[in-house]
Amino acid sequence: MIRVGVLGARGRMGRTVCAAVVADPDCELVAAVDTQAGEAVAGLEVSDSPDALLASSAQVAVDFTHPSAVMGNVRWCLTQGIHMVVGTTGLTPADLDEIRSLADSGPANAVVAPNFAVGAVLALRFAEQAAAWFPDAEIIELHHEAKADAPSGTAIATARAIAAARGHQPVAPAGDDAHPGARGADIDGVRVHSVRLPGLLAHEEILFGGPGQVLTIRHDSTDRASFMPGVLLAIKAVASRPGLTHGLGALLED
Ligand code: NAP
Repeated sequence: MIRVGVLGARGRMGRTVCAAVVADPDCELVAAVDTQAGEAVAGLEVSDSPDALLASSAQVAVDFTHPSAVMGNVRWCLTQGIHMVVGTTGLTPADLDEIRSLADSGPANAVVAPNFAVGAVLALRFAEQAAAWFPDAEIIELHHEAKADAPSGTAIATARAIAAARGHQPVAPAGDDAHPGARGADIDGVRVHSVRLPGLLAHEEILFGGPGQVLTIRHDSTDRASFMPGVLLAIKAVASRPGLTHGLGALLED
């Protein structure tokens, strides 16, 4: 049995992860941590201190908190020898470098994935393939209104994969000065447009344009259940993967 603690246990993702861990015969939920203590999640009382992870001898901590909180949790857990599965988005390349360094030099490993849905990983792979034939590409990512970061980590990863896979970078027209932002964010030369609306969960549309044709790759997470098989896969794999594993794709290849 893998002893699992969840950081952000009272949140939308944290609650779903707690329930998935309890339902998995290979895992045991031993700690639930959030900013406010008291309430029970998946039958376990929530603690407001990560010390609960140590007190319960958690082997793996899963973080679905906030971009402003995640690095503090990562530093603390990896230094304490607790493996980490990080789903919180908004990490910068410098954050990833720091996690890699901590995991390489310390007693615990990390899996970090901006999207734990298998369909989103496949969409990224299909986009890499398409980029070789359609260098002109733009991304629209659509999420619920409470998402803290924009663009999404998934869209950033997809844009970088397209930029690396296409043979040349096409020149996309800029917008006019009167309407800044109309052309979206420029991620390695790929335009990314972020939509935030109630009613949405997590969606990504990758559009490739060529003479006389448009190819659209679309992935929709319609329920947080979509992320759970990937999260459980990471919980089970992290102890045997030294250092940092970045992206669910690496785990699917094993
Ligand atoms: P949420 O509902 O706001 O939940 C986050 C929870 O974490 C809140 O209860 C928050 O408490 C708590 N928290 C904040 N700082 C903390 C800390 N230092 N220690 C422990 N708990 C802390 O957010 P969500 O929708 O679940 O999303 C969480 C993160 O997961 C976001 O970054 C989101 O983009 C990401 N996400 C990733 C995936 C993926 O597949 N990788 C999928 C979906 C979402 P307060 O409310 O008091 O601050």
